[in-house]
Amino acid sequence: MATSWNAKAYAAAGPTASLAPITIARREPTERDVHIEILYCGICHSDLHTVRDEWKSVMPTVYPCVPGHEIVGRVTRVGSAVTKFKSGDLAAVGCMVDSDRTCGDCQHGLEQFCANMTLTYNSPDKHLGAVTYGGYSDAIVVDERFVLHVPSQLDLAGAAPLLCAGITTYSPMRHWGVTKGKKVGVVGLGGLGHMAVKFAHALGAYVVVFTTSPNKKDDALRLGADEVVISRHRDEMKKQRGSFDYILDAVSADHDINAYIDLLRRDGTLTLVGAPEKPLAVAAFSLIFGRRSLSGSPIGGIPETQEMLDFCGTHNITADVEVIPIQKANEAYDRLLKSDVKYRFSIDMASLKSV
Ligand code: NAP
Ligand code: ZN
Repeated sequence: MATSWNAKAYAAAGPTASLAPITIARREPTERDVHIEILYCGICHSDLHTVRDEWKSVMPTVYPCVPGHEIVGRVTRVGSAVTKFKSGDLAAVGCMVDSDRTCGDCQHGLEQFCANMTLTYNSPDKHLGAVTYGGYSDAIVVDERFVLHVPSQLDLAGAAPLLCAGITTYSPMRHWGVTKGKKVGVVGLGGLGHMAVKFAHALGAYVVVFTTSPNKKDDALRLGADEVVISRHRDEMKKQRGSFDYILDAVSADHDINAYIDLLRRDGTLTLVGAPEKPLAVAAFSLIFGRRSLSGSPIGGIPETQEMLDFCGTHNITADVEVIPIQKANEAYDRLLKSDVKYRFSIDMASLKSV
């Protein structure tokens, strides 16, 4: 077992517990490890799903759970064999901290599909034997292969959410060929959705946002949408039928997926990145008529995550964030459930020093 030291963190002790301060063990950096002082960590809806054990049928939560996989910080120490980073560099960590590196997926830089991939939190910890702990913490130790470079011109609080919300929307849009001349729908203007709008716009697509929140209309247009549809208005929905090449669904809760599949043109694809707790009912005829496809996509591989960060550096793209101290994390979770976030909470980890 590796030797360890103590870090400060916020954790949930059980599915109905609030997040509260805790001391956790982190490993001493091995020769390929990077020790990062965490400056900002975004709050992803997946943190909330996991903390409340809403995905128990697929990924049961081990407690205490320290969430957080949108991490930006500064390197404070590196192991003797580290070549990509030095002390003082900016560094970022997303949803993964390890994989087997030998399978076909890893060899293609698609570590997110590796059967032996280690998630940043709630995975078995190969080094210390317990469970991995995420970024609601003052520091983290990660193998350099899973650490990313942050373009120095980006605002750091806004860059943190790129590590999950960013890559999770960039990757499928690149895979399914979102580009100039395509009509692209984005369903749900939350953390993921607002990044999808920015990327689809930057890739040159015609972008339509579907939202349940009429008060987000002006923001959607400002973020890069060409049209906004209030999804509860049936006549507005009807006008869009059969017209989309691609739709990205980033909704966190139960909703009528068929209402969106019906908006695809022939051979169009709808990709689910949103991961509601309960299965969604799919009407066969929504897919059959129009030979449409329904797909899903998880985060993105390490090389593509770096590509996305570099793309953001070139296009000056970051998340729109509300920066909060860690003491407000529980309140932020309550607000996420009310779709009351514009458009990502980013925790200023300096607030953990006073805990
Ligand atoms: P979020 O910020 O809470 O945004 C979710 C949005 O969904 C809300 O802002 C709201 O948008 C819409 N929404 C919420 N409840 C709804 C309802 N009952 N009916 C219709 N629309 C509703 O969440 P997020 O962090 O972007 O995450 C979104 C989902 O993606 C979560 O399930 C998360 O776990 C999942 N996720 C998946 C991956 C992956 O790898 N595939 C990665 C990260 C996150 P409007 O107000 O515009 O309607
Ligand atoms: Zn996430």
